[in-house]
Amino acid sequence: MKRYTLFIGGKPVETARHADILNPSTGEVVGAMPLATVGDLDAAVTAAAAAFEKWQLKSSLELADACRAIAAKIEENSEDLARLLTLEQGKPLNGLGSRFEIGGAVAWTRHTAAIEIPVEVLQDTPEGRVELHRKPIGVVGSITPWNWPVMIACWHIIPAIRAGNTVVVKPSPQTPLSTIRLVELMNEVLPAGVVNVVTGENEIGAAMSAHPGIAKLTFTGSTSTGKKVMANAVDTLKRLTLELGGNDAGIVLPDADPKEIAEGLFWGAFINNGQTCACLKRLYVHDSLYDAVCESLVAYAAHIPVGDGLSEQSILGPVQNRMQLDIVASYVEDARAKGGRVLIGGQNNGGTGYFYPITIVADVDHGCELVDREQFGPALPIIRYTDLADVIAKANDNPAGLGGSVWGRDTARAKQVAGQLECGTVWINKHGAIQPNAPFGGVKQSGIGVEFGVEGLKEFTTIQTIFC
Ligand code: NAD
Repeated sequence: MKRYTLFIGGKPVETARHADILNPSTGEVVGAMPLATVGDLDAAVTAAAAAFEKWQLKSSLELADACRAIAAKIEENSEDLARLLTLEQGKPLNGLGSRFEIGGAVAWTRHTAAIEIPVEVLQDTPEGRVELHRKPIGVVGSITPWNWPVMIACWHIIPAIRAGNTVVVKPSPQTPLSTIRLVELMNEVLPAGVVNVVTGENEIGAAMSAHPGIAKLTFTGSTSTGKKVMANAVDTLKRLTLELGGNDAGIVLPDADPKEIAEGLFWGAFINNGQTCACLKRLYVHDSLYDAVCESLVAYAAHIPVGDGLSEQSILGPVQNRMQLDIVASYVEDARAKGGRVLIGGQNNGGTGYFYPITIVADVDHGCELVDREQFGPALPIIRYTDLADVIAKANDNPAGLGGSVWGRDTARAKQVAGQLECGTVWINKHGAIQPNAPFGGVKQSGIGVEFGVEGLKEFTTIQTIFC
Protein backbone atom coordinates (compact mmCIF):
# COMPACT_ATOMS: atom_id res chain seq x y z
CA MET A 1 0.00 0.00 0.00
CA LYS A 2 1.37 3.38 -1.01
CA ARG A 3 1.92 6.05 1.66
CA TYR A 4 1.32 9.43 0.09
CA THR A 5 3.03 12.65 1.15
CA LEU A 6 2.05 16.29 1.26
CA PHE A 7 3.59 18.48 -1.44
CA ILE A 8 4.86 21.81 -0.16
CA GLY A 9 7.31 24.26 -1.71
CA GLY A 10 7.98 21.93 -4.64
CA LYS A 11 8.92 18.96 -2.41
CA PRO A 12 7.22 15.93 -0.89
CA VAL A 13 6.74 16.38 2.86
CA GLU A 14 6.29 13.39 5.17
CA THR A 15 3.80 13.42 8.03
CA ALA A 16 3.93 11.48 11.29
CA ARG A 17 0.35 10.21 10.90
CA HIS A 18 -1.70 8.73 8.07
CA ALA A 19 -5.26 7.54 7.50
CA ASP A 20 -6.37 4.70 5.23
CA ILE A 21 -8.38 5.57 2.13
CA LEU A 22 -10.88 2.87 1.17
CA ASN A 23 -12.18 1.76 -2.20
CA PRO A 24 -15.97 2.29 -2.02
CA SER A 25 -16.55 -0.68 -4.36
CA THR A 26 -14.65 -3.24 -2.27
CA GLY A 27 -13.74 -1.75 1.11
CA GLU A 28 -10.07 -2.45 0.35
CA VAL A 29 -7.36 0.05 1.27
CA VAL A 30 -6.25 2.14 -1.73
CA GLY A 31 -3.48 4.11 -0.06
CA ALA A 32 -2.54 6.09 3.04
CA MET A 33 -3.44 9.77 3.22
CA PRO A 34 -0.93 11.98 5.05
CA LEU A 35 -2.49 13.77 8.02
CA ALA A 36 -1.18 17.33 7.98
CA THR A 37 -0.81 19.40 11.12
CA VAL A 38 -1.60 23.10 11.35
CA GLY A 39 2.21 23.53 11.26
CA ASP A 40 2.24 21.86 7.82
CA LEU A 41 -0.52 24.22 6.70
CA ASP A 42 1.55 27.19 7.90
CA ALA A 43 4.54 25.87 5.93
CA ALA A 44 2.38 25.53 2.80
CA VAL A 45 1.05 29.08 3.15
CA THR A 46 4.59 30.38 3.69
CA ALA A 47 5.80 28.53 0.56
CA ALA A 48 2.88 29.88 -1.48
CA ALA A 49 3.51 33.43 -0.22
CA ALA A 50 7.20 33.19 -1.16
CA ALA A 51 6.33 31.89 -4.64
CA PHE A 52 3.76 34.67 -5.09
CA GLU A 53 6.53 37.30 -5.06
CA LYS A 54 7.73 36.16 -8.47
CA TRP A 55 4.60 34.50 -9.85
CA GLN A 56 2.54 37.69 -9.69
CA LEU A 57 5.10 39.38 -11.97
CA LYS A 58 4.71 36.83 -14.78
CA SER A 59 3.25 38.07 -18.04
CA SER A 60 -0.17 36.90 -19.17
CA LEU A 61 1.54 34.84 -21.88
CA GLU A 62 3.79 33.08 -19.36
CA LEU A 63 0.85 32.30 -17.09
CA ALA A 64 -1.16 30.93 -20.03
CA ASP A 65 1.80 28.75 -21.12
CA ALA A 66 2.15 27.36 -17.59
CA CYS A 67 -1.53 26.36 -17.58
CA ARG A 68 -1.16 24.73 -20.99
CA ALA A 69 1.84 22.77 -19.73
CA ILE A 70 -0.31 21.53 -16.84
CA ALA A 71 -3.04 20.45 -19.28
CA ALA A 72 -0.46 18.46 -21.24
CA LYS A 73 0.85 16.82 -18.03
CA ILE A 74 -2.64 15.78 -16.95
CA GLU A 75 -3.37 14.45 -20.42
CA GLU A 76 -0.14 12.41 -20.51
CA ASN A 77 -1.05 10.82 -17.18
CA SER A 78 -4.79 10.63 -17.71
CA GLU A 79 -5.24 6.86 -17.53
CA ASP A 80 -3.26 6.56 -14.26
CA LEU A 81 -5.12 9.49 -12.76
CA ALA A 82 -8.46 8.03 -13.85
CA ARG A 83 -7.66 4.68 -12.20
CA LEU A 84 -6.62 6.32 -8.95
CA LEU A 85 -9.77 8.43 -9.02
CA THR A 86 -11.94 5.35 -9.57
CA LEU A 87 -10.20 3.50 -6.76
CA GLU A 88 -10.81 6.19 -4.16
CA GLN A 89 -14.03 7.80 -5.42
CA GLY A 90 -15.83 4.71 -6.74
CA LYS A 91 -17.04 6.18 -10.05
CA PRO A 92 -16.51 3.92 -13.07
CA LEU A 93 -13.66 4.44 -15.48
CA ASN A 94 -16.25 4.37 -18.25
CA GLY A 95 -19.35 6.38 -19.09
CA LEU A 96 -19.51 9.76 -17.38
CA GLY A 97 -16.95 8.50 -14.87
CA SER A 98 -13.23 8.96 -14.19
CA ARG A 99 -11.97 9.22 -17.76
CA PHE A 100 -14.68 11.76 -18.46
CA GLU A 101 -13.67 13.71 -15.32
CA ILE A 102 -9.98 13.80 -16.24
CA GLY A 103 -10.88 14.82 -19.81
CA GLY A 104 -12.99 17.62 -18.34
CA ALA A 105 -10.09 18.77 -16.17
CA VAL A 106 -7.89 19.01 -19.28
CA ALA A 107 -10.53 20.87 -21.29
CA TRP A 108 -11.21 23.40 -18.52
CA THR A 109 -7.49 23.94 -17.99
CA ARG A 110 -6.89 24.65 -21.69
CA HIS A 111 -9.88 26.95 -21.96
CA THR A 112 -8.91 28.91 -18.85
CA ALA A 113 -5.33 29.23 -20.09
CA ALA A 114 -6.63 31.14 -23.11
CA ILE A 115 -8.77 33.68 -21.23
CA GLU A 116 -7.37 37.22 -21.14
CA ILE A 117 -8.52 40.05 -18.92
CA PRO A 118 -7.46 43.20 -20.74
CA VAL A 119 -7.12 46.58 -19.02
CA GLU A 120 -10.45 48.44 -19.37
CA VAL A 121 -10.33 52.12 -20.22
CA LEU A 122 -13.25 53.69 -18.38
CA GLN A 123 -12.55 57.20 -19.61
CA ASP A 124 -10.08 58.80 -22.00
CA THR A 125 -10.89 62.49 -22.40
CA PRO A 126 -8.98 65.77 -22.13
CA GLU A 127 -10.02 65.77 -18.45
CA GLY A 128 -8.10 62.56 -17.87
CA ARG A 129 -7.80 58.83 -18.38
CA VAL A 130 -9.19 56.23 -16.00
CA GLU A 131 -8.12 52.60 -16.28
CA LEU A 132 -9.43 49.50 -14.54
CA HIS A 133 -6.70 46.93 -13.87
CA ARG A 134 -7.09 43.46 -12.43
CA LYS A 135 -4.42 42.27 -9.99
CA PRO A 136 -3.85 38.89 -8.36
CA ILE A 137 -4.97 38.65 -4.74
CA GLY A 138 -2.15 36.61 -3.15
CA VAL A 139 -2.30 33.14 -1.63
CA VAL A 140 -5.53 31.34 -2.53
CA GLY A 141 -6.84 28.54 -0.33
CA SER A 142 -8.85 25.87 -2.11
CA ILE A 143 -11.11 23.40 -0.31
CA THR A 144 -12.72 20.69 -2.44
CA PRO A 145 -15.40 17.97 -2.00
CA TRP A 146 -15.34 14.24 -2.78
CA ASN A 147 -17.70 14.03 -5.76
CA TRP A 148 -15.58 15.40 -8.66
CA PRO A 149 -12.26 15.87 -6.85
CA VAL A 150 -9.87 16.27 -9.78
CA MET A 151 -12.08 18.45 -11.95
CA ILE A 152 -13.07 20.71 -9.05
CA ALA A 153 -9.42 21.03 -7.95
CA CYS A 154 -8.65 22.25 -11.49
CA TRP A 155 -11.64 24.63 -11.40
CA HIS A 156 -10.04 26.19 -8.30
CA ILE A 157 -6.32 25.99 -9.02
CA ILE A 158 -6.15 26.87 -12.71
CA PRO A 159 -7.98 30.23 -12.68
CA ALA A 160 -6.15 31.13 -9.47
CA ILE A 161 -2.69 30.66 -10.95
CA ARG A 162 -3.78 31.95 -14.40
CA ALA A 163 -4.59 35.24 -12.66
CA GLY A 164 -1.16 35.31 -10.95
CA ASN A 165 -2.02 33.89 -7.52
CA THR A 166 -0.43 30.94 -5.75
CA VAL A 167 -2.40 28.12 -4.12
CA VAL A 168 -2.74 25.81 -1.15
CA VAL A 169 -5.30 23.10 -1.93
CA LYS A 170 -6.98 20.88 0.64
CA PRO A 171 -8.98 18.01 -0.85
CA SER A 172 -11.74 16.10 0.94
CA PRO A 173 -10.41 13.47 3.36
CA GLN A 174 -12.62 10.98 1.43
CA THR A 175 -10.76 11.43 -1.88
CA PRO A 176 -7.36 13.04 -1.29
CA LEU A 177 -5.02 10.81 -3.30
CA SER A 178 -5.90 11.88 -6.84
CA THR A 179 -5.45 15.53 -5.82
CA ILE A 180 -2.02 14.79 -4.32
CA ARG A 181 -1.05 13.12 -7.59
CA LEU A 182 -2.48 16.05 -9.57
CA VAL A 183 -0.40 18.54 -7.58
CA GLU A 184 2.73 16.41 -8.00
CA LEU A 185 2.18 16.53 -11.77
CA MET A 186 1.60 20.28 -11.71
CA ASN A 187 4.86 20.68 -9.82
CA GLU A 188 6.74 19.01 -12.68
CA VAL A 189 6.06 22.13 -14.75
CA LEU A 190 5.60 24.91 -12.17
CA PRO A 191 8.10 26.79 -9.99
CA ALA A 192 8.27 25.52 -6.40
CA GLY A 193 5.51 26.77 -4.11
CA VAL A 194 3.04 27.93 -6.76
CA VAL A 195 0.71 24.99 -5.99
CA ASN A 196 0.89 23.12 -2.66
CA VAL A 197 -1.31 20.41 -1.20
CA VAL A 198 -2.15 19.62 2.41
CA THR A 199 -4.45 16.75 3.33
CA GLY A 200 -6.05 15.76 6.58
CA GLU A 201 -9.25 15.97 8.53
CA ASN A 202 -11.77 18.80 8.50
CA GLU A 203 -9.85 20.90 11.09
CA ILE A 204 -7.33 21.76 8.38
CA GLY A 205 -10.19 23.31 6.37
CA ALA A 206 -11.28 25.32 9.41
CA ALA A 207 -7.70 26.49 9.97
CA MET A 208 -7.45 27.54 6.31
CA SER A 209 -10.65 29.57 6.53
CA ALA A 210 -9.20 31.57 9.42
CA HIS A 211 -5.57 31.67 8.21
CA PRO A 212 -4.16 35.23 8.08
CA GLY A 213 -1.80 34.30 5.22
CA ILE A 214 -4.63 33.21 2.90
CA ALA A 215 -6.15 36.18 1.08
CA LYS A 216 -8.89 34.38 -0.80
CA LEU A 217 -10.64 31.12 -0.23
CA THR A 218 -12.49 29.17 -2.86
CA PHE A 219 -14.71 26.50 -1.37
CA THR A 220 -16.88 23.81 -2.95
CA GLY A 221 -18.91 21.67 -0.61
CA SER A 222 -22.09 21.54 1.42
CA THR A 223 -24.04 24.61 2.45
CA SER A 224 -23.58 23.85 6.15
CA THR A 225 -19.78 23.74 5.82
CA GLY A 226 -19.85 26.83 3.58
CA LYS A 227 -21.50 28.75 6.42
CA LYS A 228 -18.70 27.67 8.79
CA VAL A 229 -16.10 28.78 6.24
CA MET A 230 -17.75 32.19 5.98
CA ALA A 231 -17.91 32.58 9.76
CA ASN A 232 -14.26 31.58 10.14
CA ALA A 233 -13.18 33.97 7.39
CA VAL A 234 -14.67 37.01 9.11
CA ASP A 235 -11.64 38.15 11.10
CA THR A 236 -9.37 38.25 8.06
CA LEU A 237 -12.08 39.53 5.68
CA LYS A 238 -11.02 36.92 3.15
CA ARG A 239 -12.42 37.09 -0.35
CA LEU A 240 -14.71 34.08 -0.77
CA THR A 241 -16.14 32.05 -3.59
CA LEU A 242 -18.62 29.54 -2.20
CA GLU A 243 -20.05 26.82 -4.45
CA LEU A 244 -22.49 25.01 -2.20
CA GLY A 245 -25.25 22.44 -2.16
CA GLY A 246 -28.20 22.32 -4.51
CA ASN A 247 -31.68 20.86 -4.63
CA ASP A 248 -32.38 21.41 -8.32
CA ALA A 249 -35.95 21.17 -9.54
CA GLY A 250 -36.95 20.00 -13.01
CA ILE A 251 -40.39 20.84 -14.38
CA VAL A 252 -41.90 18.73 -17.15
CA LEU A 253 -44.52 20.75 -19.05
CA PRO A 254 -47.59 19.09 -20.58
CA ASP A 255 -46.23 19.30 -24.14
CA ALA A 256 -43.07 17.23 -23.43
CA ASP A 257 -42.55 13.83 -25.04
CA PRO A 258 -41.97 11.28 -22.23
CA LYS A 259 -39.91 8.92 -24.40
CA GLU A 260 -37.77 11.65 -25.90
CA ILE A 261 -36.83 13.18 -22.55
CA ALA A 262 -36.21 9.97 -20.58
CA GLU A 263 -32.48 9.76 -21.29
CA GLY A 264 -31.85 13.43 -20.50
CA LEU A 265 -33.89 13.23 -17.29
CA PHE A 266 -32.05 10.11 -16.22
CA TRP A 267 -28.54 11.51 -16.66
CA GLY A 268 -29.60 14.86 -15.24
CA ALA A 269 -30.52 13.06 -12.04
CA PHE A 270 -28.08 10.15 -11.91
CA ILE A 271 -24.77 11.39 -13.31
CA ASN A 272 -22.08 10.36 -10.83
CA ASN A 273 -24.80 8.41 -8.99
CA GLY A 274 -26.62 11.63 -8.12
CA GLN A 275 -23.55 12.88 -6.26
CA THR A 276 -23.30 16.12 -8.19
CA CYS A 277 -24.16 19.59 -6.92
CA ALA A 278 -26.28 20.46 -9.95
CA CYS A 279 -28.05 17.13 -10.38
CA LEU A 280 -31.78 17.07 -10.94
CA LYS A 281 -32.94 16.33 -7.39
CA ARG A 282 -36.72 16.95 -7.54
CA LEU A 283 -38.74 16.19 -10.66
CA TYR A 284 -42.18 17.81 -11.09
CA VAL A 285 -44.31 16.25 -13.83
CA HIS A 286 -47.68 17.45 -15.11
CA ASP A 287 -50.56 15.14 -14.26
CA SER A 288 -51.41 14.58 -17.94
CA LEU A 289 -48.13 12.73 -18.63
CA TYR A 290 -47.08 11.73 -15.12
CA ASP A 291 -47.47 7.98 -15.58
CA ALA A 292 -45.86 8.00 -19.03
CA VAL A 293 -42.79 9.90 -17.75
CA CYS A 294 -42.43 7.56 -14.76
CA GLU A 295 -42.68 4.57 -17.06
CA SER A 296 -40.12 5.72 -19.63
CA LEU A 297 -37.68 6.82 -16.92
CA VAL A 298 -37.89 3.46 -15.16
CA ALA A 299 -37.49 1.63 -18.50
CA TYR A 300 -34.30 3.62 -19.19
CA ALA A 301 -32.95 3.14 -15.64
CA ALA A 302 -33.49 -0.63 -15.68
CA HIS A 303 -30.73 -1.08 -18.28
CA ILE A 304 -27.90 0.82 -16.59
CA PRO A 305 -25.16 -1.50 -15.29
CA VAL A 306 -24.05 -0.63 -11.77
CA GLY A 307 -20.87 -2.24 -10.45
CA ASP A 308 -17.23 -2.02 -9.42
CA GLY A 309 -15.74 1.09 -10.97
CA LEU A 310 -12.74 -0.76 -12.38
CA SER A 311 -14.94 -3.00 -14.49
CA GLU A 312 -15.21 -1.68 -18.05
CA GLN A 313 -18.85 -2.80 -18.04
CA SER A 314 -19.94 -0.51 -15.17
CA ILE A 315 -21.70 2.72 -16.07
CA LEU A 316 -22.49 3.71 -12.48
CA GLY A 317 -20.60 2.69 -9.33
CA PRO A 318 -21.17 2.73 -5.59
CA VAL A 319 -22.04 5.69 -3.39
CA GLN A 320 -18.75 7.22 -2.28
CA ASN A 321 -19.02 6.68 1.48
CA ARG A 322 -21.03 5.01 4.20
CA MET A 323 -22.42 8.25 5.62
CA GLN A 324 -23.88 9.29 2.25
CA LEU A 325 -25.27 5.80 1.65
CA ASP A 326 -27.09 5.94 5.01
CA ILE A 327 -28.51 9.39 4.19
CA VAL A 328 -29.88 8.20 0.84
CA ALA A 329 -31.36 5.02 2.36
CA SER A 330 -33.01 6.95 5.20
CA TYR A 331 -34.54 9.55 2.86
CA VAL A 332 -36.00 6.77 0.70
CA GLU A 333 -37.44 5.08 3.80
CA ASP A 334 -38.96 8.37 4.93
CA ALA A 335 -40.55 8.85 1.47
CA ARG A 336 -41.91 5.31 1.54
CA ALA A 337 -43.34 5.82 5.02
CA LYS A 338 -45.08 8.97 3.77
CA GLY A 339 -46.84 7.17 0.92
CA GLY A 340 -44.11 7.27 -1.76
CA ARG A 341 -44.35 4.51 -4.39
CA VAL A 342 -40.92 3.03 -5.13
CA LEU A 343 -40.89 2.33 -8.87
CA ILE A 344 -37.40 0.86 -9.03
CA GLY A 345 -34.62 0.17 -6.49
CA GLY A 346 -35.22 1.31 -2.94
CA GLN A 347 -33.62 -1.66 -1.26
CA ASN A 348 -30.03 -1.76 -0.14
CA ASN A 349 -28.90 -5.28 -0.96
CA GLY A 350 -26.07 -5.37 1.56
CA GLY A 351 -22.89 -7.09 0.38
CA THR A 352 -19.49 -5.55 -0.14
CA GLY A 353 -19.06 -1.90 -1.01
CA TYR A 354 -21.34 1.08 -0.63
CA PHE A 355 -23.77 0.10 -3.37
CA TYR A 356 -27.29 1.48 -3.48
CA PRO A 357 -29.57 0.73 -6.44
CA ILE A 358 -30.87 3.37 -8.83
CA THR A 359 -34.09 4.42 -7.10
CA ILE A 360 -37.11 6.33 -8.40
CA VAL A 361 -39.96 7.22 -6.04
CA ALA A 362 -43.34 8.43 -7.31
CA ASP A 363 -46.31 10.01 -5.51
CA VAL A 364 -44.23 12.06 -3.09
CA ASP A 365 -44.57 15.72 -2.24
CA HIS A 366 -42.99 18.45 -0.15
CA GLY A 367 -42.79 17.49 3.52
CA CYS A 368 -40.59 14.44 2.98
CA GLU A 369 -36.80 14.50 3.18
CA LEU A 370 -36.23 13.13 -0.32
CA VAL A 371 -37.89 16.28 -1.69
CA ASP A 372 -37.01 18.91 0.88
CA ARG A 373 -33.33 18.08 1.41
CA GLU A 374 -30.36 17.36 -0.82
CA GLN A 375 -30.17 13.56 -1.16
CA PHE A 376 -26.83 13.63 -3.03
CA GLY A 377 -27.20 10.04 -4.18
CA PRO A 378 -29.04 7.72 -6.59
CA ALA A 379 -32.66 8.39 -5.55
CA LEU A 380 -35.05 10.66 -7.45
CA PRO A 381 -38.49 11.79 -6.21
CA ILE A 382 -41.20 12.52 -8.80
CA ILE A 383 -43.92 14.96 -7.80
CA ARG A 384 -47.25 15.35 -9.61
CA TYR A 385 -48.61 18.83 -10.42
CA THR A 386 -51.58 20.33 -12.24
CA ASP A 387 -51.12 24.10 -12.02
CA LEU A 388 -48.07 25.85 -13.50
CA ALA A 389 -48.02 28.78 -11.04
CA ASP A 390 -48.17 26.34 -8.13
CA VAL A 391 -45.33 24.20 -9.46
CA ILE A 392 -43.09 27.24 -10.01
CA ALA A 393 -43.78 28.32 -6.42
CA LYS A 394 -42.94 24.81 -5.20
CA ALA A 395 -39.73 24.65 -7.23
CA ASN A 396 -38.68 27.94 -5.61
CA ASP A 397 -39.76 26.87 -2.13
CA ASN A 398 -36.30 25.74 -1.08
CA PRO A 399 -33.29 27.54 0.43
CA ALA A 400 -31.05 26.22 -2.38
CA GLY A 401 -30.80 27.94 -5.76
CA LEU A 402 -28.13 26.24 -7.85
CA GLY A 403 -29.76 24.92 -11.04
CA GLY A 404 -33.11 24.02 -12.52
CA SER A 405 -34.60 22.71 -15.73
CA VAL A 406 -37.73 22.97 -17.84
CA TRP A 407 -38.79 20.24 -20.27
CA GLY A 408 -41.20 20.77 -23.17
CA ARG A 409 -41.46 21.10 -26.95
CA ASP A 410 -42.32 24.80 -27.00
CA THR A 411 -38.94 26.34 -26.20
CA ALA A 412 -40.29 29.89 -25.91
CA ARG A 413 -42.81 28.73 -23.31
CA ALA A 414 -40.11 26.76 -21.48
CA LYS A 415 -37.89 29.88 -21.42
CA GLN A 416 -40.71 31.88 -19.86
CA VAL A 417 -40.91 29.34 -17.05
CA ALA A 418 -37.10 29.26 -16.77
CA GLY A 419 -37.05 33.00 -16.09
CA GLN A 420 -39.25 32.50 -13.05
CA LEU A 421 -36.99 29.95 -11.37
CA GLU A 422 -34.76 31.17 -8.53
CA CYS A 423 -31.46 29.59 -9.48
CA GLY A 424 -28.11 30.42 -11.04
CA THR A 425 -28.49 28.22 -14.14
CA VAL A 426 -31.55 26.90 -15.98
CA TRP A 427 -31.42 24.26 -18.70
CA ILE A 428 -34.13 23.56 -21.25
CA ASN A 429 -34.65 19.90 -22.19
CA LYS A 430 -31.46 18.95 -20.38
CA HIS A 431 -30.05 19.26 -16.89
CA GLY A 432 -26.57 19.81 -15.48
CA ALA A 433 -24.64 20.61 -18.66
CA ILE A 434 -21.75 22.94 -17.89
CA GLN A 435 -18.99 24.33 -20.06
CA PRO A 436 -15.82 26.33 -19.41
CA ASN A 437 -17.02 29.56 -21.05
CA ALA A 438 -20.36 29.82 -19.21
CA PRO A 439 -20.42 31.23 -15.66
CA PHE A 440 -21.75 28.77 -13.08
CA GLY A 441 -22.76 29.51 -9.51
CA GLY A 442 -25.63 29.47 -7.06
CA VAL A 443 -28.11 32.01 -5.76
CA LYS A 444 -29.77 31.96 -2.32
CA GLN A 445 -27.98 29.43 -0.08
CA SER A 446 -26.26 27.65 -2.96
CA GLY A 447 -23.35 30.01 -2.88
CA ILE A 448 -21.62 33.28 -3.55
CA GLY A 449 -19.76 34.10 -6.74
CA VAL A 450 -19.33 32.16 -9.97
CA GLU A 451 -16.78 29.89 -11.60
CA PHE A 452 -15.75 29.53 -15.28
CA GLY A 453 -15.20 31.93 -18.11
CA VAL A 454 -13.98 35.46 -17.74
CA GLU A 455 -16.44 36.09 -14.88
CA GLY A 456 -14.98 33.15 -12.97
CA LEU A 457 -11.41 34.29 -13.64
CA LYS A 458 -12.18 37.76 -12.32
CA GLU A 459 -13.07 36.21 -8.94
CA PHE A 460 -9.35 35.55 -8.49
CA THR A 461 -8.43 39.21 -8.94
CA THR A 462 -8.91 42.51 -7.19
CA ILE A 463 -9.67 45.72 -9.02
CA GLN A 464 -7.20 48.56 -9.07
CA THR A 465 -8.41 51.77 -10.67
CA ILE A 466 -5.69 54.04 -12.01
CA PHE A 467 -6.37 57.73 -12.72
CA CYS A 468 -3.62 58.88 -15.08
P1 NAD B 1 -18.48 18.94 2.80
O1 NAD B 1 -19.02 20.30 3.06
O2 NAD B 1 -18.70 17.89 3.82
O3 NAD B 1 -16.89 19.00 2.61
C1 NAD B 1 -16.30 19.83 1.63
C2 NAD B 1 -14.89 20.16 2.05
O4 NAD B 1 -14.93 20.97 3.22
C3 NAD B 1 -14.02 18.95 2.40
O5 NAD B 1 -12.73 19.18 1.90
C4 NAD B 1 -14.01 18.99 3.93
O6 NAD B 1 -12.87 18.38 4.51
C5 NAD B 1 -14.00 20.49 4.18
N1 NAD B 1 -14.46 20.89 5.52
C6 NAD B 1 -15.20 20.20 6.41
N2 NAD B 1 -15.43 20.95 7.51
C7 NAD B 1 -14.83 22.14 7.30
C8 NAD B 1 -14.75 23.36 8.05
N3 NAD B 1 -15.30 23.48 9.24
N4 NAD B 1 -14.08 24.39 7.48
C9 NAD B 1 -13.54 24.30 6.25
N5 NAD B 1 -13.57 23.17 5.51
C10 NAD B 1 -14.21 22.11 6.03
O7 NAD B 1 -19.04 18.52 1.37
P2 NAD B 1 -18.87 17.13 0.64
O8 NAD B 1 -19.76 16.14 1.36
O9 NAD B 1 -17.44 16.80 0.43
O10 NAD B 1 -19.50 17.47 -0.80
C11 NAD B 1 -20.84 17.39 -1.08
C12 NAD B 1 -21.49 18.76 -1.08
O11 NAD B 1 -20.80 19.63 -1.96
C13 NAD B 1 -22.91 18.72 -1.61
O12 NAD B 1 -23.73 19.54 -0.81
C14 NAD B 1 -22.80 19.28 -3.00
O13 NAD B 1 -24.00 19.83 -3.51
C15 NAD B 1 -21.72 20.29 -2.80
N6 NAD B 1 -21.09 20.64 -4.08
C16 NAD B 1 -21.33 21.86 -4.63
C17 NAD B 1 -20.79 22.20 -5.87
C18 NAD B 1 -21.08 23.53 -6.53
O14 NAD B 1 -20.39 23.87 -7.48
N7 NAD B 1 -22.04 24.30 -6.06
C19 NAD B 1 -19.98 21.28 -6.54
C20 NAD B 1 -19.74 20.05 -5.94
C21 NAD B 1 -20.30 19.75 -4.71
